[in-house]
Amino acid sequence: MSTQHHDVVVVGGGNAGISLAARLLRDGCRDLALVEPSPVHRYRPLLSYAGSGLAELADLERPQADVVPDGCRWYADRVTGVDADGSCVRLAGGGELSYTDLVVCPGSEVDWAAVPGSRDAVATPYASTNYVTELAAKTWSLMSALTRGTAVFSVADGQVPCAPVGLKPLFTAADHWRRQGVLPAVTVELVVQADHLVDHARADRELRAAAERYGVHVRTGTTVESVDIHTRELHLRTPTGEERLHYDAWHLTPPHRAPSWVADSGLAGSADGGFLAVDPRTLQHLAYPRVWGLGDVADADAMPSGGALRKQAPVVADNIAAARLGRPLRHYDGYTVAPVTTSRRRLVLAEFDRAGQPEPSVPFPDLARPRASTFFFDRYLQPGLYWHQILKGHVS
Ligand SMILES: Cc1cc2nc3c(=O)[nH]c(=O)nc-3n(C[C@H](O)[C@H](O)[C@H](O)COP(=O)(O)OP(=O)(O)OC[C@H]3O[C@@H](n4cnc5c(N)ncnc54)[C@H](O)[C@@H]3O)c2cc1C
Repeated sequence: MSTQHHDVVVVGGGNAGISLAARLLRDGCRDLALVEPSPVHRYRPLLSYAGSGLAELADLERPQADVVPDGCRWYADRVTGVDADGSCVRLAGGGELSYTDLVVCPGSEVDWAAVPGSRDAVATPYASTNYVTELAAKTWSLMSALTRGTAVFSVADGQVPCAPVGLKPLFTAADHWRRQGVLPAVTVELVVQADHLVDHARADRELRAAAERYGVHVRTGTTVESVDIHTRELHLRTPTGEERLHYDAWHLTPPHRAPSWVADSGLAGSADGGFLAVDPRTLQHLAYPRVWGLGDVADADAMPSGGALRKQAPVVADNIAAARLGRPLRHYDGYTVAPVTTSRRRLVLAEFDRAGQPEPSVPFPDLARPRASTFFFDRYLQPGLYWHQILKGHVS
């Protein structure tokens, strides 16, 4: 088996891996390897708009080769495990890469087993999720075709990437039903596992007010435990007991877990989901100081999101250098974002830290109020910023 050595090895070329790699190269890293099996890079936030009939899959995809930064050695392969004691990663193709520092950012995956029946449900014509690329367009076909009956939108808690965006298909569909004049015939149910719609008090109030305007029945603190695809019933655990909820159309924002090789390699913490055990402030692994983590895979005590990576990537890049020089490490404060549409032309942008304290990028105007300008930015301007600035490591 061949072993190649690189100064820094980055596992995963998504939002986290590409923006970090670009940053490290800019900072002077001369021997950087990236392991990423997919030939296509996706800007995943646009999946919500594909699921609302406001974008096509082609809008969010670019060849991976176009985003891998110059100067970085790309292995189009998949990591199958890490030997952190031996400082090397194993590749599905058979080789090994040894490293001085390792950055683990392979994202997370849908935990279908956490909601028995959910994987079968999305294979029926009655359920969908924007969290699976191939299903986003189906969400819009399902919701736009509904003219009567019950539409259920469920949002799981925990390490779900940008969980509040699970409300985007609800509000864009409800606005569509209102414009079509069928909203009175559609019962809209929102089932949220957390006790808030978003962990930002002001934005939460705005979203609840929008839900009320559409007549949405909101249940917080409620978990979808399983689904019966034959009767089309969700089995719910509510704060007061168990309940069943029938659906004619169901959009789920599902629970997530880390890739299983993270735990199999001894890199996970004890919490459910096998997420990477990092110090939430420094993003350094708790047991292996030459291992770092960011993005959806890392248990950083903050809601994972692409926006969070604007702050995480510079912290990891700086801390790799600082650790080598014996200098103090920088801290990530848990900054994250949740852009949630309240209609087909307005959006609430909630920016907050791990304590739920607002952390707005601009002091004025208040972006946590529904605005047409933030909708326009999120749908039309942010993708360009992503491809041309964020992936190049320029935004923090
Ligand atoms: C529907 C949806 C809407 C969203 N909307 C927003 C939003 O509006 N705003 C926002 O800020 N965030 C949003 N997010 C969240 C955001 O997309 C993620 O937080 C972000 O993509 C995380 O980046 P990442 O690099 O950690 O993971 P990913 O983007 O998932 O990238 C992980 C990469 O690792 C690769 N990989 C996986 N396994 C391996 C392996 N074994 N070896 C090597 N490589 C591997 C994958 O192929 C992938 O390219 C949304 C997410 C979804 C799904």
